[in-house]
Amino acid sequence: MFFLFGLTSRERVLFSRSASCHFCGRFAPQQVIQRATKFTVFFIPLLTVRKSRLLVCTNCGGASPLSAQQQRAMAV
Ligand SMILES: [Zn+2]
Repeated sequence: MFFLFGLTSRERVLFSRSASCHFCGRFAPQQVIQRATKFTVFFIPLLTVRKSRLLVCTNCGGASPLSAQQQRAMAV
């Protein structure tokens, strides 16, 4: 008997808003992306191991990590 287990990572766009990018300096839509890493057994995701948020510029693709507090401040 064997178990097939591993980790998978999924990304989801939470929201997007226009702001100036600190990589390219352009005023462009910035996407807030949530990346969830999940523990899988037989390719079925069971537990969320880690969650992180990224702020990604749609113009240049520059990404920077975002804390939960920063995300809440941007969503208002
Ligand atoms: Zn940019």
